Amino acid sequence: MAMFGFAIGDIAITQIEEFVDPGVPVQFLLPDLPDDVIPANLDWLAPRFLDPATMGVDITMQSWLIRTRHHTILVDTCGGNHKPREHFPVFHQRRSSAWLDNLCAAGVSPEDIDYVFCTHLHIDHVGWNTRLENGVWVPTFPNARYLWSQAEYDHARPAGDGADDGEHAIFVDSVLPVVEAGLAQMVGPSFDLDDQIAIEAAPGHTPGHSLLRARSGGQVGLFTGDALHHPLQIAAPDCNSFACADAHQARATRRRILGECADHGHLLVPAHFAAPHVGRITRAGDAFRFHPGI
Ligand SMILES: [Zn+2]
Repeated sequence: MAMFGFAIGDIAITQIEEFVDPGVPVQFLLPDLPDDVIPANLDWLAPRFLDPATMGVDITMQSWLIRTRHHTILVDTCGGNHKPREHFPVFHQRRSSAWLDNLCAAGVSPEDIDYVFCTHLHIDHVGWNTRLENGVWVPTFPNARYLWSQAEYDHARPAGDGADDGEHAIFVDSVLPVVEAGLAQMVGPSFDLDDQIAIEAAPGHTPGHSLLRARSGGQVGLFTGDALHHPLQIAAPDCNSFACADAHQARATRRRILGECADHGHLLVPAHFAAPHVGRITRAGDAFRFHPGI
């Protein structure tokens, strides 16, 4: 199967897919979506972004592989294998080679990764940070520095032993082993990795949620994690997902990102959009319009 990829100037981007969660009820994903938004946008939503018969949407679980002239970088690491996720059945005890096979098919082995960047520390963004080896969670990318924001780490770190609501397990098996191996690098609200890659605060979905800005040859791509989950949030930018922690801040960050993409022609590269996964943005009154593709 041909892999999906594109370029931002001389930076090569490849999609590394883990799986597609099909037919997620749109009312579950976007609980505060106004009633009139879907009918007004059905012409471009159906069928790839919404099945009008079931009102289901496909959620892509994917990482973005970024190859610059300096570094090989992985953005977000999906759900991972063998993780105990009783609270989240779609991620529970997965045993699939698809994600690693796709990485390998892109010509990259785990040892080749220089940086892993987690936009935030949710279940579907940290899974392949670690893998199970002889009963022990070890970093999957032994030569990488793992980047995430200090604010996100402080928020995700369990305050005490506490009852395990599912979040604690994610921290223990997918974040802590990286820290204990000395591979974690916590960054502030603005961090330049080099002259092409920067990490910037984009809070709201989680307190320390961040985006990655890639720039080359006058082109810019914004890897925006879960600031948006679905293209409907472009037409309705004040609509949050069920998982957004700070409703007001999430809306403000989403509008800031979409406005910058619209006004400067940047490519939007979110974490979960269905194929073609990326797109351009234009303004449409007080909201925005999505133009899928490169
Ligand atoms: Zn996510």
